[in-house]
Amino acid sequence: MKKLSLKASCLCGGIQLRTHGYHRDVHNCHCIQCMKTHGHYAAYTNVQEQNVKFLKKRTLKWFRSSKRAKKGFCRKCGASLFFKVIGSNIVHIAAGMFNGPTKLKTKMNIFVKRKLDYYKLDNRLATFKRYPK
Ligand SMILES: [Zn+2]
Repeated sequence: MKKLSLKASCLCGGIQLRTHGYHRDVHNCHCIQCMKTHGHYAAYTNVQEQNVKFLKKRTLKWFRSSKRAKKGFCRKCGASLFFKVIGSNIVHIAAGMFNGPTKLKTKMNIFVKRKLDYYKLDNRLATFKRYPK
């Protein structure tokens, strides 16, 4: 966890935000929802919902990706920015949406049970079949 203040946006700029407070280390998620949303595994940090301040969110749309979660994306450019468990106050943010250096570190691979065969895992990172307890 790192205390940071970062700016992020989608490709077209329809969604722009600032994050504050503690940011979790980045997790690479290989689950089917992330693979199908991002076209590859997803790299997410997260913050408390109250630490996200939107400057623009005109094009933000939410998609219910499973019984327990939803994904936030830009309906203009198609960028996939967010993942949120329903009822949770934590917002997961795709780390590639930040506009400059983040000072974040990628710490683990999760849900590797669903990993496809065309790429290799970084074996310096901790790896979990599901989500670590
Ligand atoms: Zn956009």
